[in-house]
Amino acid sequence: MTVRSYNQKGSTFPIDQPSQLDPDKLHQRAEDELKSKKLEDMEALSPEETRRMLHELQVHQIELEMQNEELRRAQMDLDAAKARYFDLYDLAPVGYCTISENGLILEANLTAANLLSVTRSDLVKQPFSRFIIKEDEDIHYLNFKRVLSAQKPLSYELRMRRNNESTFWARLELAASFGSSEILDQEGIIPSIRLTISDITDSKLAQEALKRSNLALEDFAHVASHDLQEPLRKIITYGERLIATRNSSLDGQERDYLARMQDAANRMRSLIADLVKYARVTYDHTGLKTLNLKKPVEDAVKDLMVLLEESGGIIEIGNLPDVKMNETEMRQVFQNLISNSLKYRGDQPMIKIYQILSTDEKFHEIHVADNGIGFDEIYLDKIFKPFQRLHGKSSPYKGTGMGLAICHKIVELHGGSITARSKPGEGSTFIVRLPKYF
Ligand code: ADP
Repeated sequence: MTVRSYNQKGSTFPIDQPSQLDPDKLHQRAEDELKSKKLEDMEALSPEETRRMLHELQVHQIELEMQNEELRRAQMDLDAAKARYFDLYDLAPVGYCTISENGLILEANLTAANLLSVTRSDLVKQPFSRFIIKEDEDIHYLNFKRVLSAQKPLSYELRMRRNNESTFWARLELAASFGSSEILDQEGIIPSIRLTISDITDSKLAQEALKRSNLALEDFAHVASHDLQEPLRKIITYGERLIATRNSSLDGQERDYLARMQDAANRMRSLIADLVKYARVTYDHTGLKTLNLKKPVEDAVKDLMVLLEESGGIIEIGNLPDVKMNETEMRQVFQNLISNSLKYRGDQPMIKIYQILSTDEKFHEIHVADNGIGFDEIYLDKIFKPFQRLHGKSSPYKGTGMGLAICHKIVELHGGSITARSKPGEGSTFIVRLPKYF
């Protein structure tokens, strides 16, 4: 920005020092300038010179007013930017901290200070680990080192301690940063960690309550399955004996009744078996392994080989990602999806299992696509619920309605999600999202 001023010779000269725009200083300079002019000089001016001088003065005044307006607007923009920064950074719904390579807090927003019950200035230069409960310090230490060395973002959960000694469950998200910071090394660059803290106590408590009730459901299902299977086994066995010993003396209607009884008993058996499978999906994720997804997918295909050959179907398996998983459960997911594709098939079943390469930082996306009978997407919510089917008892497609409910439960317990895209007669694509860091 350049401001012009008038000099003694009537010409203009630039002033580009911002301090010279100070209205008081400008006024003082104008006074000095006027004093330095000799009255005779002014009186000696011709009318033409006076007009020119007056004109320049007016132009100069307008210029100054415009500069003033510009400055005012710049100031307003600056204030708005400051308010936006305050809103975005300080009042963000999560705590933000920048942490030095050796674990000291360099900067923190207000939310972080409030979460930890300290003033912001008391946070600076404190070791972040001071706010982590002793039992969980290792979790933080190891992840912190991993983020610094691998330079990949990470998130994990642990228990934190406020300044007032109360504790809470937190999810930390960490990412290494090599930008400038207040403390710089000789090259002007130091690695630091940007960290967000979210209080997840409520969801953690709800999760734990759910875990307890699911464990109770698991126990119940186990007992119930045993107690329910026993009388069923008897119905089926005595029914079979009756058919074997009295078949010739039974009339057509009696044989039909008996066959229906056997059918119902067998169906009940499948329902109980699937219910038990559903209830047994484990909540204990301590034994998870990182494996390439190809392994459980190929194992699932092997289990379904007879069905696959009978149907004349073809399965193509593309590249699949590494995932942290319970292998048996993941195999169950793909077994259910593939067996559905073979059940709800057209003439020449074609199934493709592949990963979609997306920019999503948090989830892998895996598709299981078939060219089968498809379904109307208005039933999308229904099909993932236990015992929900889109086919009546008289339909040729048999099942218990538990296959997708089991997939849903397993995938969600792995921190992922499952959905589908489909149209009647145009095949279906089941979309499984599994977390990259679990
Ligand atoms: P089930 O196959 O025993 O009925 P599922 O839970 O596996 O139970 O599936 C629920 C419903 O979703 C099925 O009844 C069927 O209508 C629909 N479905 C599942 N997979 C497919 C598929 N690949 N193509 C078309 N419909 C499907």
